[in-house]
Amino acid sequence: MRQNRSQTKVIATIGPASSSKEMLEKMFHEGIDVCRLNFSHGTHEEHLQVINYILELNAELNTNVAILADLQGPKIRIGDVQDNKIELKDCTEVLFVTEKCIGTAQKLYLSYTNFPKDVNVGDSILIDDGKIKLEVLETNKLDTVKARVIYGGFLSSKKGVNLPNTKISIPSLTEKDIADVNFALDNHADWIALSFVRSANDLFQLKEIIRKKKKLARIIAKIEKPEALADIDNIIEASNGIMVARGDLGVEVPFDQVPLIQKDLVKRCIEKAKPVIIATQMLESMITNFRPTRAEANDIGNAVIDGADALMLSAETSAGKYPLGSIIAMQRIIDWTEKGFVFDRETPPTANSITFLPDSICLNACRLASQTGAKAIVTFTNSGHTAFKISSHRPNADIFAFTRNKTLLRKLSLLWGVRAFPIAEHKKMDTAIKHSIEFLKNNDYLHDGDIVVHVGSIPFEKRGQTNIVKLSFV
Ligand code: PEP
Repeated sequence: MRQNRSQTKVIATIGPASSSKEMLEKMFHEGIDVCRLNFSHGTHEEHLQVINYILELNAELNTNVAILADLQGPKIRIGDVQDNKIELKDCTEVLFVTEKCIGTAQKLYLSYTNFPKDVNVGDSILIDDGKIKLEVLETNKLDTVKARVIYGGFLSSKKGVNLPNTKISIPSLTEKDIADVNFALDNHADWIALSFVRSANDLFQLKEIIRKKKKLARIIAKIEKPEALADIDNIIEASNGIMVARGDLGVEVPFDQVPLIQKDLVKRCIEKAKPVIIATQMLESMITNFRPTRAEANDIGNAVIDGADALMLSAETSAGKYPLGSIIAMQRIIDWTEKGFVFDRETPPTANSITFLPDSICLNACRLASQTGAKAIVTFTNSGHTAFKISSHRPNADIFAFTRNKTLLRKLSLLWGVRAFPIAEHKKMDTAIKHSIEFLKNNDYLHDGDIVVHVGSIPFEKRGQTNIVKLSFV
């Protein structure tokens, strides 16, 4: 197992290249923190097999690798096309129809019934990650849209479609998503990611499903639509974290805007103590090559310096030639960047918030750690709140979260810097502190002479809001 864990976490998407227990075990050894199951692909049976392997490996290796279930959301696609390959030539005209048919260069099925009603003349239609672009010429507002090919190309079946200028009237959770989220909740998903979020309202139905099933999974809002950027503060507030889903985002908004959008989203999330994931094309060339491009190494390093909680690999680990090599390369870049960079961000707590006092303690615990050169900040947490808060200050000390709440252990793996461990019942803070130090010493996280900052609440057994900070020598 990797000894020195990085603060920035690594998410690996699991697919045919990585779904065997042997490969997953190797990936665990290289330090992945979260496995992403992409519900755009694979059957429930396949996902369940992977989940079982993750749970087994966590038990065997004493790790807390989290399970992130990524719902497809209202993804628009063309249907099957003739012989699975057609060519759309520049300047030709194509009809988009809402009745299923085998697609040709003249006529394509689109999986979005209201498209003719919602689209306007002049709107863009982008296919296959924006590689093919068309412009709408006419719509009969019923079932057919005529468009002209601006940039053509070859097209295979079921390619994704982006409509950056069209206000889309599709519900945020499709029937497939509802079946998938029920499956994921029944099978230990820690985090549920919702695709194509347009406003904070899109998250409420998902929250209701989780609440009704009495589950504690947390929600990641995937930011990939321009409408989401317009409601971003409410989305961050309503979710438990966000993903900068650069694949679709870079097609839905002009690609030149993505770098600053990424930086802005990371900053907003850190200020609100919500984890933020940077996703897509981080090591795209490693789908086929054994080493990254210089630009990819820079992209990863920059995302680390921005302060992202986690970086995500997609096809690199799910379908690429070098799933393990991609993780090793990503970890190497993260490690080197973190070594040469001190984060230490401070976000003052909000004075009128109900968590003002614990939040103030978390900030001051980080200040104390920084002033004393403490090796670690240890929190005893039941809800996870203090772990989220301490992590958001990006302290220059390790963050260890001890919890009696078993459902939290894997969830916290997504957070910048946080390592979570279970703790047995303790009646008194003193014994809990003693136990945490012994445990961290025995596992080589702390050594004699190190300084540690503990935060927690007394009376300990009451599990109230965090109200103490303690400074100790190991
Ligand atoms: C993305 O668009 O960047 C993304 C992560 O979403 P998906 O892989 O589900 O298309």
